[in-house]
Parts: sequence; C-alpha cells; structure tokens
Amino acid sequence: MRYTGEPKRLYDFMDNFTVECSHCEGKAEVQLPHFLDYKNAQWNCPSCFFSEKMSSLIRYVYSGKAKCSECLNWLDLGTEPFKKIPKYTNIRCSSCDTINKVRENLTKIYQKYQTSRISDPAFGLPLWYTDEVKGEEIWAFNLQHLLEIKDYVGSKLRERSTDRFKMTMVEKLPDFIKSAKNREEVLKAIERMEKK
Ligand SMILES: [Zn+2]
Ligand SMILES: [Zn+2]
Repeated sequence: MRYTGEPKRLYDFMDNFTVECSHCEGKAEVQLPHFLDYKNAQWNCPSCFFSEKMSSLIRYVYSGKAKCSECLNWLDLGTEPFKKIPKYTNIRCSSCDTINKVRENLTKIYQKYQTSRISDPAFGLPLWYTDEVKGEEIWAFNLQHLLEIKDYVGSKLRERSTDRFKMTMVEKLPDFIKSAKNREEVLKAIERMEKK
C-alpha cells in the first residue's frame, strides 16, 4: 500500500480534540466553532453529560503591584484567582499591618485543567488517544488524526520525493513513529487506541 494522502498540516486536525472527561474519565470531545477559536471552545461528555464552555474558565488575577498607603511597602497581593472582578480586596500590609483596599491591576486569564499528561490546547484536558511504544509516547488529537498516522505508518512506500511533504503533519511525526523497524509496534499501539 502506498501513502497518497493529500498533504495535511497538523493544524488541519486541530478543530476538535478527543479528551478524557474530568468527571467520569469517559471519552469526551472538545469542539472549536472555528479554526483556532479556542476562546469559544466547548467540551462535552456523552457518558456523564457534563458540558463546559471556555468562558467558565475565566478568572482574574493580580498582575500588577500595589504599595501600602501608609508605609509604601509593596503589598503581597497573593496569587489566588477571582471568579468575578471584585470591587476591591482588603490586603493587610506585612510590615505595618494597615488594611489596604486594592482595586486595580487585575488581568483576565483562563484557568485550565491541570494535567501532567499531553492535553488539548484549549481546556488542558488529557488527550484520549495516547499510548506508548518502547517508552515513547504516541498520541493523536482525534480519531481522524489517528487514522492519518495509521495510514502513513502502514504504507510501505511513502511518497516523499517532493517538497510538498515538508511541514506537513506526517513530516513532523517523531522519528520513532516513522522508523520502519517500529512499524509493527506502532501499528499495534494505534489499534489499541482505536479500540479504547
Ligand atoms: Zn464524563
Ligand atoms: Zn504598610
């Protein structure tokens, strides 16, 4: 079999991501309404029916500095994010104990999920399609991406003579996936992922 897929860039696969639900660990989907429109992304889990928009991850954190009105020492504004912009917060000065009303220097952030595993770029939820080959991590954003990798790895004769494959998704795959001697193991890992 020969790999004849149209050249696809990694970005072509980045409008939806299959992830692990943070509630039930089931298979969930992150959808973007438009290419790269992460701010309007949404994820939902068909197993536990949880669904969440990116907007509910919005938090506000202090990004600037403020001085004590009494002794002009720098105040410790803390790092705890706020769900809504507070009218002000009371910050006690660590050197003179004066309570200062601080009401500025807030910046909007998206508080993503925390995971040490490879995750989707919007919510930071762990990707669903991950596996290991010889200690190396193999992953795909979604099923379409996984099948494209499978097509490429499974084809014995790869058309790579022209520049058109440079910068494409398959050219960016790590060497252990592209290496012919790992083909069987990579294909087995892909099959395990397909059955997940
Ligand atoms: Zn769930
Ligand atoms: Zn002070």
